[in-house]
Amino acid sequence: MAKIPMKTPLVEMDGDEMTRIIWKMIKDILLIPYVDLKTEYYDLGLEYRNKTNDRVTFDSAEATKKYGVAVKCATITPNAARMTEYDLKEMWKSPNGTIRAILDGTVFRTPIIVKGITPYIPTWTKPITIARHAYGDVYKNTEMQVAEGSKCELVCTDKDGNETRQLIHDFNGTDGIIQGLHNTDKSISSFARSCFNFALDTKQDLWFATKDTISKKYDHRFKDIFAEIFENEYKEKFDAAGIEYFYTLIDDAVARVVRSDGGYIWACKNYDGDVMSDMVATAYGSLAMMTSVLVSPEGVYEYEAAHGTVQRHYYKYLKGETTSTNSVATLFAWTGALRKRGELDGLTELSDFADKLEKATIQTIEEGVMTGDLYLLSSLENKQKVDTETFLKEVAVRLEKLL
Ligand code: NAP
Ligand code: MG
Repeated sequence: MAKIPMKTPLVEMDGDEMTRIIWKMIKDILLIPYVDLKTEYYDLGLEYRNKTNDRVTFDSAEATKKYGVAVKCATITPNAARMTEYDLKEMWKSPNGTIRAILDGTVFRTPIIVKGITPYIPTWTKPITIARHAYGDVYKNTEMQVAEGSKCELVCTDKDGNETRQLIHDFNGTDGIIQGLHNTDKSISSFARSCFNFALDTKQDLWFATKDTISKKYDHRFKDIFAEIFENEYKEKFDAAGIEYFYTLIDDAVARVVRSDGGYIWACKNYDGDVMSDMVATAYGSLAMMTSVLVSPEGVYEYEAAHGTVQRHYYKYLKGETTSTNSVATLFAWTGALRKRGELDGLTELSDFADKLEKATIQTIEEGVMTGDLYLLSSLENKQKVDTETFLKEVAVRLEKLL
């Protein structure tokens, strides 16, 4: 069989530890035999990041802007222990943070659902995708402990030097705490556009919620910006696609999410997204089954797994022990990127291949062949636990039948 051709290269960002091992296995077993794989390769493994003074991370983000689609392997975010382990020149920043800052994107996380693994909320039969606004609010706050007798005010000095003051609180008879938060119209607008684009892209409804009844200026600004951009730029496209933009209060949203059957995108402010994404991921069963895509307001896409480099498994692997690490989220990062590349380049065959590879993966698990993490969760009766590589080979067997 002739290999499926590609036009534009994918930006390939290699990574660290167990996921780096899985990365190569996926390419060797499931991609290179079937696709005439074209990638522009960037090694984001910590060793090479250190060697290039992290230049490679910046270059890979610029390449993503140029080509439009990237696929990324999980990478180590250095901490003190990694400084010695890898003899680092500096404690390099998180590559995800660097890439996100350059692309100005929003991260969308979606669970992969398979029969046999029932979410803790069993009515969630379709995925709930969480979009977290990753800028500002409490994550860029200024805060103080203040002493009894203090008077605290918000002071804003405009560009002409005019001051506006507003009382926060008079601390009479007790010490206390205060906090200053901010966000920008620019960042909120980018977030809104990324969300509307992704909803159109995946043909799903978009939900957004804040506490605008209490926060009449701050949260209300989020609500207004979303509403304005929707009306002016997206309403017609949403109507044509048969999807809906739905705004409600955050507490109402939580109640509706719990009662829902999934199948929509839930846009969250920074803190809500932090908390709710962990809640939703846990409820669906496994972090190893969670995909993640960074979408820029200009429509640039970077696909990855939501989990990390699975360090504990890597140390087992280095000792020569067999591992049973779940490759599904990393594999779906590849299929997401290939499908998008196919769509952008008008290569139906490439997008179809991505669909079939996902189908073969889900079929493998639903036929009872799975890695250890899923084996513990699955309610299937004739399930068997396989090692990292055997799983991918089992997927290949099923893929061959679909091609
Ligand atoms: P992790 O790699 O997500 O793994 C935490 C634990 O979750 C694993 O030890 C394993 O549990 C389970 N797990 C996660 N993914 C799995 C998979 N694919 N298959 C089977 N089990 C899986 O998080 P971490 O150990 O906290 O972080 C390791 C490194 O990853 C850190 O250096 C961190 O900086 C980095 N990280 C990178 C990203 C990214 O690049 N996007 C995200 C998060 C973390 P058991 O050990 O119980 O089997
Ligand atoms: Mg969190």
